[in-house]
Amino acid sequence: MSQARKTAVPRQKMPEQSPPARIGNFHEVPCGFTPEQARAEASRCLQCQNAPCRKGCPVEVDIPAFIRRIESGETVAAAETLQATNSLPAVCGRVCPQEDQCEKLCVLGKLSTPVAVGSLERFAADWKAAHPGQAGGRTAGDKTAGEKVAVIGAGPAGLTAAADLARMGWRVTLFEALHEAGGVLIYGIPEFRLPKEIVAREVENVAKLGVDLRLDQVAGRTIAVEDLWAEGFRAIFIATGAGLPSFMSIPGENLNGVYSANEYLTRVNLMKAFRFPEFDTPVIAGKKVCVVGGGNVAMDSARTALRLGAKTVAVVYRRTRDEMPARKEEVVHAEEEGVSFRFLTLPVRYLDNGRGWLAGMECLKMKLGEPDESGRRRPLPIPGSEFALDCDLAVVAIGNEPNPLFVRSIPGLKLGRKGNVEIDPETGRTSLPGIFAGGDIATGAATVIEAMGAGKRAARAIDAYLKRLPAEANPGKF
Ligand code: FAD
Ligand code: SF4
Repeated sequence: MSQARKTAVPRQKMPEQSPPARIGNFHEVPCGFTPEQARAEASRCLQCQNAPCRKGCPVEVDIPAFIRRIESGETVAAAETLQATNSLPAVCGRVCPQEDQCEKLCVLGKLSTPVAVGSLERFAADWKAAHPGQAGGRTAGDKTAGEKVAVIGAGPAGLTAAADLARMGWRVTLFEALHEAGGVLIYGIPEFRLPKEIVAREVENVAKLGVDLRLDQVAGRTIAVEDLWAEGFRAIFIATGAGLPSFMSIPGENLNGVYSANEYLTRVNLMKAFRFPEFDTPVIAGKKVCVVGGGNVAMDSARTALRLGAKTVAVVYRRTRDEMPARKEEVVHAEEEGVSFRFLTLPVRYLDNGRGWLAGMECLKMKLGEPDESGRRRPLPIPGSEFALDCDLAVVAIGNEPNPLFVRSIPGLKLGRKGNVEIDPETGRTSLPGIFAGGDIATGAATVIEAMGAGKRAARAIDAYLKRLPAEANPGKF
């Protein structure tokens, strides 16, 4: 097909559940491409020689190659091309902000609309899972008797590093504090955006590479860094994420009915409150819900509250729509479902109903001033503009800080001002020999693909480090 004809083919739109149907269930909202749609979308790719899209992918997927294979009907081979560098393709195909990554650099995007790289990634990964008979096995490298590496935290960063290190032939043990692996993918992002069986499937693929997954292991509590060295681990990768919720420290935050988004989403997702009465996990299902914040976490919380039966859900955000960090797609989905937005609004106090339960929020109106260090215009309170918002459940989604538990237990590990591990971003090296780190624990709350990119770079650096390490050296004793 000529370039002009490719430019004229419209980008395929993925079918999805209608808003009235989907707010009554927790099933995934977008339904995935049909095979015909996937072929049509793949045929739009120009197969650029220099493939600028690849530079936008932190895990270095060979994007034109996998798309070419979909177009020619070799979908399992397409999935294998993805899996060669990306251990979580079905996850990335669903939650990566492609509009800011590969699709942003797509040449077709300059002529019309970019190729739907994420949707094609999802299609290929799901196709392979649904056709196991056509797939080749996934194997570890050939040095399974190699040195032992400990990876702490089984989120996207830890899973990626563990998979890559196993492929390189190192003996990897992945320690996870929770009873399920996946990190935010399992306890944070809701079922209707990322079904848990998809995460479980990709975790299983990582385990099949020979990674020894040990759940319910809280590093810094049930296992110390000294124990790891004593057990013969020769390198450690810390990927414990940013799971410490931030609060605003305003009066009333301890009232019943005020949750951090972290706790709210964990109860609903990991502890399966959404499958009541099959799972009897207590969660407050408010009727009038306010969600504080403007990011993806706020959108997830608002849409979850609707599905748990809220009559009204308002997102309360101190800036305007233009400054919201949430993905546009998520904001549109939330609006379609009936979530309302209170922009330029700052909660200053939670109101007590007299019996220790939330009855509302006192807020201030804001206006925008000059840009702050983030480049976004600074919100400034308008004195005397106080007003009350009625609500019986408030979910605070204003950000997360690095998880302090393990990193603060390691003597001499250099931490930044916010408790993040200080690393060399190219290698994940920390201030201590043999200890590497990456993902949200180093950057603060970021994205799945950035965490995976950090895991990949660290795996490469650990591989090089172990190859240079003298046989008699004990990294813990430097
Ligand atoms: P995590 O995913 O946080 O994983 C860390 C793991 O370490 C966890 O499993 C944790 O239990 C474990 N751990 C912590 N301490 C210990 C310990 N002491 N011992 C053992 N294990 C430990 N990003 C996107 O790209 N797209 C999205 O749509 C998106 N939506 C999001 C929605 C929500 C609700 C949230 C909270 C985040 C979202 N993000 C999204 C951000 C993204 O999920 C994170 O940036 C990413 O998961 C970070 O990966 P990580 O591996 O560094 O950490
Ligand atoms: Fe295909 Fe776009 Fe990548 Fe070019 S930049 S190879 S059109 S996905």
